[in-house]
Amino acid sequence: MFYDFHIHSCLSPCSNDDMTPNNIAQMAYIKELDIIAVTDHNSLKQQRAVYDACAKVNIKVMFGVEIQTIEEVHVCCYFRTIDDCDIFQIWIDEKTNKIKNNELFFGKQIICDSDDTIIANEEYLLINSLNVTLNDCIDKVHECNGKVVLAHVLDRVNSVTHQLGFIPTDCKFDGLEVKNLNQMMIVKEKHPWIKDTFWFINSDAHQLIDISEKENAISSKEFEMFWGKTL
Ligand SMILES: [Zn+2]
Ligand SMILES: [Zn+2]
Repeated sequence: MFYDFHIHSCLSPCSNDDMTPNNIAQMAYIKELDIIAVTDHNSLKQQRAVYDACAKVNIKVMFGVEIQTIEEVHVCCYFRTIDDCDIFQIWIDEKTNKIKNNELFFGKQIICDSDDTIIANEEYLLINSLNVTLNDCIDKVHECNGKVVLAHVLDRVNSVTHQLGFIPTDCKFDGLEVKNLNQMMIVKEKHPWIKDTFWFINSDAHQLIDISEKENAISSKEFEMFWGKTL
């Protein structure tokens, strides 16, 4: 399955306003992807519309959100059911610093329905850190039956290696996201204790054109193994 598991919709203030659920689904369809995840900053409120839009073009969806922890580390958190998303969203709301968004400065935070009609504008700014540590975030995701992939691990902003200097050995992540295979080798060299994990190469697209081409694949078997099922 060709995938892209890190895409921002128009709910993320830093993404283009035309990153609507249906535009994302259509672009994924044009690019012949099989499965995607939309991972907005600190919110799962676009997930239902994304799921419905992707269903129209027969693209599978893994539910997702990119959380910023108190260490300013970005982690992609994934879920398999909308019920788990709803439970995790309640926890996000509890941990959010309620600072109002300034649309003119940060950008709009648009929530759509499955026809891309705007149904709400998220009031609170989504690009702040939640009041939660990296380890506590990971524990909560696991409690909600989810999986955690440390995002863009070698980036110079908001990556675990930039914010903490390294990947802690007690960090119970389920996968690591890199930009390319060369980055994977660098991470492995620096962290020889990381033997078996799942590696993902995603776009982190904030505009339609940046959604991944048909270049990164995961087999159905690997995908189920990621979710902890042995086939
Ligand atoms: Zn990020
Ligand atoms: Zn991102």
